[in-house]
Amino acid sequence: MSEVIGSGKVVGMSYRLTDDKGVLLDQASHDEPFLYIQGASQIVPGLEKALEGVKIGEKKKVSVDAEEGYGPLHDGLKMTVKKDQFPGIEEIQPGMQFQAQSPEGHGMVFTITDVKGDDVTIDGNHPLAGQTLHFAVEILSIREATEEEMSHGHVHGEGGHHH
Ligand code: ZN
Repeated sequence: MSEVIGSGKVVGMSYRLTDDKGVLLDQASHDEPFLYIQGASQIVPGLEKALEGVKIGEKKKVSVDAEEGYGPLHDGLKMTVKKDQFPGIEEIQPGMQFQAQSPEGHGMVFTITDVKGDDVTIDGNHPLAGQTLHFAVEILSIREATEEEMSHGHVHGEGGHHH
């Protein structure tokens, strides 16, 4: 009997994520596999779809375009604000990230991309927005998620949350 990825399964996988130029963006090794729950929107939609029905031990290459990845780049999420919008922060530098609330009440992460005098340029796009993502994955483990994991929406135990 071979295990197959389906909704509600905890999947362990090794992967390499590269961009269009072959630059390595992220990875998980055999020794420390990445764990997620299929169907819980923990991974980008394009990869989750492609892994549905994949068997344990299978290796798969999946290319995911921006629409099915981290979304397109929105120019509207890039803006320039004044330094005094960041009270209490002594030194504002490119690369710093801040949590902000969108008008709809969603939590959004902004990255500071440029600082010129009093002007701070911020970008609310995900760092991988607008990019085609190339995954090379190997499925290492598949098991049923527990009820507790399903209600929390994340994996517990080895390689997951401890709380
Ligand atoms: Zn939990």
